[in-house]
Amino acid sequence: MSLALHELPHLIVHRDEPLARYTAARLGGPADILAIAQHRDALIAAVQWARETETRWIILGGGANVLISEYGFRGLVIINRSKETEIDAASGRVVADSGTNLTTLARRCIGQGLKGLEWGVSVPGTVGGAVVNNAGAHGGDMAHNLASVEIIDLETSTTPETWQTQALNYDYRYSVLKGKRGRYIVLQATLQLEPGHDPKELSQVADEFIVYRKRTQPPGASLGSMFKNPPDDYAGRLIEAAGLKGHRIGGVEVSTVHANFFTNTGDATASDYAALIQHVQQTVATRFGVGLELEIEQIGEGLEE
Ligand SMILES: Cc1cc2nc3c(=O)[nH]c(=O)nc-3n(C[C@H](O)[C@H](O)[C@H](O)COP(=O)(O)OP(=O)(O)OC[C@H]3O[C@@H](n4cnc5c(N)ncnc54)[C@H](O)[C@@H]3O)c2cc1C
Repeated sequence: MSLALHELPHLIVHRDEPLARYTAARLGGPADILAIAQHRDALIAAVQWARETETRWIILGGGANVLISEYGFRGLVIINRSKETEIDAASGRVVADSGTNLTTLARRCIGQGLKGLEWGVSVPGTVGGAVVNNAGAHGGDMAHNLASVEIIDLETSTTPETWQTQALNYDYRYSVLKGKRGRYIVLQATLQLEPGHDPKELSQVADEFIVYRKRTQPPGASLGSMFKNPPDDYAGRLIEAAGLKGHRIGGVEVSTVHANFFTNTGDATASDYAALIQHVQQTVATRFGVGLELEIEQIGEGLEE
């Protein structure tokens, strides 16, 4: 390794940086080192630096699916802001860097008359996070839009390769990439959308999705849905039926609007969230014999096994 981390191009480096600034829930203590990658080469170089210096590392996109400990993360957190995007309105082919904001991309595609990504207007985070999680909403998901992904599998190589969508083994909020920290770097996604639609009509559909969300989900900073829906049921329905709507631990509460959301009543910590997660899982398991699986990931000191 010839260059120090702060000398690498297109990388902004901070020490002891509070992660709450980089997560949708506005939770998270300091990262020992935080590096904002503004180009895909910087993303790769930061990971390479971490490997060579044997530093623990994690990539975050929008931090919209992570609960980060108030004690922070020991190691390097790489915030992915690589955003080059090409949209071909004639063919419907969209090539987006993994740090591209999904809601912005969805709006841009709508503006070009491309159909298929309207669901994305209401899902916070980046293209990379959406690829990893098979993010989706309102009947759509990444699995239906993605043609291929450019990726580095550090277990087998240090150079990017192209994977067709089938290789990701997509299922409901699942891909082979999920939960494999330190193994994959998602660099770019190629989406295939349907060209030739009326942007006004697509926009109307997208706006209805936003209205629906506002009506059915609590406002303010959150982690979105905490648990995956179990087969043929809804996590929110089970939590509500267990009498847990409004249940509070410390500063966090099971939302009274939608029981699969937890809301911060003002001074919640990630530990409060973790305690409420456990309580809800235990109560639902005892009442209904259903094991609720987390949709979000818990990261950092005291939250990881
Ligand atoms: C209010 C709210 C509403 C939500 N609604 C929905 C919804 O309707 N549907 C839905 O599916 N989700 C929803 N979510 C969850 C979240 O938006 C999605 O999971 C989103 O795809 C996360 O993207 P991100 O960039 O924020 O990922 P992050 O939270 O930053 O990261 C998630 C995981 O992906 C990994 N990762 C991210 N980028 C890369 C990369 N480039 N390479 C390798 N690994 C990477 C991270 O290491 C981490 O393990 C919601 C969240 C909130 C806060």
